[in-house]
Amino acid sequence: MRNETIAIHGGYEEESTTKAVAVPIYQTVAYAFDSAAHGAALFNLEVEGYRYSRIANPTCDVLERRVAALEGGLGALSVSTGQAALHYAVLNLTESGRNIVSVPQLYGTTYTLFAHMLPGFGINVRFAESDQPAAIEKMVNVDTRAIFCESVGNPAGNICDIEALANVARKHGIPLIVDNTVATPILLRPIDYGADIIVHSLTKFMGGHGTTLGGAIVDSGKFPWAKYAQQFPMFSEPDASYHGLVYTDHFGPAAYIGRCRSVYQRVVGSVLSPLSAFQLLQGIETVAVRIARHVENAREVANFLRRDARVDWVNYAGFPDNQYHALAQKYLGGRACSLITFGIRGGFEGGTRFYDALKLVKRLVNLGDAKSLACHPASTTHRQMSTEEQRKAGVTPEMIRLSIGIEHVDDIIADLDQALETAAAG
Ligand SMILES: *Cc1c(COP(=O)(O)O)cnc(C)c1O
Repeated sequence: MRNETIAIHGGYEEESTTKAVAVPIYQTVAYAFDSAAHGAALFNLEVEGYRYSRIANPTCDVLERRVAALEGGLGALSVSTGQAALHYAVLNLTESGRNIVSVPQLYGTTYTLFAHMLPGFGINVRFAESDQPAAIEKMVNVDTRAIFCESVGNPAGNICDIEALANVARKHGIPLIVDNTVATPILLRPIDYGADIIVHSLTKFMGGHGTTLGGAIVDSGKFPWAKYAQQFPMFSEPDASYHGLVYTDHFGPAAYIGRCRSVYQRVVGSVLSPLSAFQLLQGIETVAVRIARHVENAREVANFLRRDARVDWVNYAGFPDNQYHALAQKYLGGRACSLITFGIRGGFEGGTRFYDALKLVKRLVNLGDAKSLACHPASTTHRQMSTEEQRKAGVTPEMIRLSIGIEHVDDIIADLDQALETAAAG
């Protein structure tokens, strides 16, 4: 099935009791055992079934299967937020004393996790100077356990050369982890280009309506953990915390996501509620049509801003002279994302006046809503960073980030136009 179809049908067939066509919300904590032996077999992972909703829930399962199928992965785990997904994705394959190498263009909270929190657990994040494969490779050493990037950086809008980064990772025997939140599998499936693990904030375009937080980790099933047993002993040595289970033996190619659930989800418990899973599934049903409209509207808005003398610069990968245009052609099929950043004339002051004058476009820190949204990263998502850190993350003081919604494009442009006018009037 193609992604447009998977988005609607993936991961669910009418359950046998009621034949409900919509995915039922299994609002339950626990599941009854037939007998002591059945309970024991479930705990031993010898039979399929449910025990307790911190570990697995049938509604969340449908979401997991659907997201895995959309990304072309072997399996997925749903969690409460995108941040929880990032946390699990990294901690599941590293230990104290090891490191991961990351691109510098990151979502603000991911930067905080990497630069300030993980080092406290003894896991260092070595930030490359840029997202270029050579800059990434320069930072890899014997203790590196993964390479991390956002396929399309938020808010920088950079597009990573996934295939080249995957080749660097393969050469060093480590996986490539990709945050695919901004692109979504509708525009790009990083696994098709060699990525090993995909992380999502389902809160954004996937859910699509700004109602529900959620996250997911997708396992391609292709990384050979057993071959690199020395670097990744957690997958191929008996786990004392799970009566000696060996994940590569028990889960085979799904060892990574199997351990993520059996260890991180079971012990840390950042679970997604079944109601949230249902709401995210509703959103995902329309993700393909929404993304098409987002992309189309963004192109018109970008062209409007570029033609406007009140605007200083516009960063949009759909422009032929944009430094990421070639990568947008290759990885997004020319469908540049609906995240646009721009700078208004008049610097920080002008930017603030513009921001305050918006009427239809919402002032907030979110993206991927059906509604058009505007964010001023320097004063919000990235304000914890120094100016130098901001520059590396692709954030400048006057920069406004727009997430173009699916309203009628003329109404979006009219609002931007009146706000530019107010800003220019000073
Ligand atoms: C929003 C976002 C996150 C965090 O997701 P939450 O669901 O808000 O925790 C991670 N990565 C990117 C690229 C994001 O845009």
